[in-house]
Amino acid sequence: MTLNLDSDYTMTLDGRGESSAQTFDVLNPATEARIAAAPDASLEQLNAAIAAARAAFGPWRDRPIAERQQALRAMADRLEAHADGFMRLLTREQGKPHADARSEVGRCVVWLREFAARELPVDRYDDGAGHLFETRRVAIGVVAAISPWNFPMTLAIWKIAPALLAGNTVVLKPSPYTPLTSLKMGELFRDVLPPGVLNVISGGDRLGPWLTEHPGIDKIAFTGSTVTGRRVMQSASARLKRVTLELGGNDAAIVLPDVDVKDTAAKLFWGAFRNSSQYCLATKRLYVHESIYDAFADALATVAAGVVVGDGAQPGTGLGPIQNRVQYERVKELIADAHRTGVRFLTGGDVPEGKGYFVPVTILDNPPDDARSVVEEAFGPVLPLLKYRDVDEAVRRANDTEYGLGGSVWSRDVARAQAIARRLETGTVWINHIHVMSPNVAFGGHKQSGVGVENALDGLLEYTNVQTVSVLA
Ligand code: NAD
Repeated sequence: MTLNLDSDYTMTLDGRGESSAQTFDVLNPATEARIAAAPDASLEQLNAAIAAARAAFGPWRDRPIAERQQALRAMADRLEAHADGFMRLLTREQGKPHADARSEVGRCVVWLREFAARELPVDRYDDGAGHLFETRRVAIGVVAAISPWNFPMTLAIWKIAPALLAGNTVVLKPSPYTPLTSLKMGELFRDVLPPGVLNVISGGDRLGPWLTEHPGIDKIAFTGSTVTGRRVMQSASARLKRVTLELGGNDAAIVLPDVDVKDTAAKLFWGAFRNSSQYCLATKRLYVHESIYDAFADALATVAAGVVVGDGAQPGTGLGPIQNRVQYERVKELIADAHRTGVRFLTGGDVPEGKGYFVPVTILDNPPDDARSVVEEAFGPVLPLLKYRDVDEAVRRANDTEYGLGGSVWSRDVARAQAIARRLETGTVWINHIHVMSPNVAFGGHKQSGVGVENALDGLLEYTNVQTVSVLA
């Protein structure tokens, strides 16, 4: 199949490409140049997408799972064959360096293949009184998949793969800031899947609420901010739609005094700043023991000095721009607030003028616990480095947040680190490494970082209803 990734961005409705009367501009965040005009779906087009998904649902659900597994494998092969083109398009619309974009496309392929290897479990129970119970997992119906702009491909595939495998059909709505890779994935998979099984629609701010409130949607799989997540849950409540919500985070790293300072600082630099910190699981508060704090600060600043912030399409770029102007202004305001309140900067803090939403790596020297940079999810390269005296205090401060997504603990004493990890109120804790994820490991947030999980069997089961059939033997 030949796919032109540079133009002709159309939605996928009932297996066909469709443009729309209205469009909106998609910009390259490194240059602020317009890359493309994306279709701005009308309500009629959304209705048509959902109707197509409903019509396709029964036949898709009733196929043997082996056929759906085969379809996922075919999607993986297609995507892999077009990996270079998707890598370039992802960098153009999202801003991330090519190497990171390549990893993101590669992860999509892996996720599709790993989900293709899964089965839906069946539980059987004989109560000894003549009743045989069989509990199966059945598809829910039409899934609305809503993705954000930081990992537009990965976070779409994390929903599409398990939803389709379980026998659901999907309407995918990408962020209006990064719709192009999703629109092209829709096109890429058009003749791999039966019409209506995967629909991709794009649009502005009105489209999300239209979709989540729509009576034709049975389940909402959403990744985005906690604020929007609350709205999604509210619109789901009217019809008790199933929801999976992957929301914001304010992850803490706790560094014990016995670590190799240079090595740990290098790893945590990338744990904090990869994807220019536009990462739900980015280290957003870094607690370092007071005895190594100064050495750690120096080591972090040394790594920062060697990292190029620039256009992700240029070789040598380590960190790209902020993805969009709204977020760029938010991050600049956070930096301005730190200046206003007299926080010392270990590095960064001066945002350059000019085209592109570039923010330098900015590390703040031990701001107070109630500083905005500590309390809020920055979602940009502004990291508070925080000093602690004893571990109980570090754990208490790490847990003192409405979020509960991830975190990490760093020590040569792994047993001690594990004991600390168990006290953190988060869905994931890494010890002496960070951000290793797998389609076979469940991922989700505690507290206001989310509802439900993605990945692994737990994630797959979120796309099913339980059905128990009991027979009198
Ligand atoms: P966002 O909440 O602004 O938007 C996410 C998606 O929801 C977009 O597609 C948007 O168009 C749509 N949307 C907006 N308003 C809506 C509404 N009322 N109803 C339905 N849909 C609506 O988030 P963002 O700014 O695109 O992404 C950044 C946020 O996402 C951060 O908070 C980050 O932590 C979070 N995030 C979480 C995870 C995770 O897995 N927990 C992963 C990545 C990002």
